[in-house]
Amino acid sequence: MTPAQFIAQLDELRCRVRPLFFVGGAAVVLADLAIILNVFDLYPLQAHSRDARVAYWIGFAACWPAVVALYLALRSNINKYAPLCRTCGAKATWKVRNQILITGHCPSCQSAFFVPLPKPPIGSSMGVPDQIGQQSGPCQPPLQ
Ligand SMILES: [Zn+2]
Repeated sequence: MTPAQFIAQLDELRCRVRPLFFVGGAAVVLADLAIILNVFDLYPLQAHSRDARVAYWIGFAACWPAVVALYLALRSNINKYAPLCRTCGAKATWKVRNQILITGHCPSCQSAFFVPLPKPPIGSSMGVPDQIGQQSGPCQPPLQ
């Protein structure tokens, strides 16, 4: 992976995760707010009965599945689209973007994050102009 590919992949990750975070986060807040308001509507804080305490615990527990679902959805997207360290497999997100771009090393294992630019094999450019080797790279489509 080159730095340019790293930046492009992080941008794509951000494009996918950001809307999910805001839309999903708003949905989670609304759902949990509805649960909380409903519980307090049924059992106001003045009601110190045993039923009220049970209802508060049930309401508290009912708030978590939406939070967990959002977390799993975000993590799944990050696992799918985050650039990976080719040595240790650590996922790079935009939190460590600048650190990786500046140092060129993985924050987890400190090995080189980017593939060094390919050098022509020794002897391949002997007597052959450099332009020929650059025009026919294996990753580039043939020029027309
Ligand atoms: Zn690593």
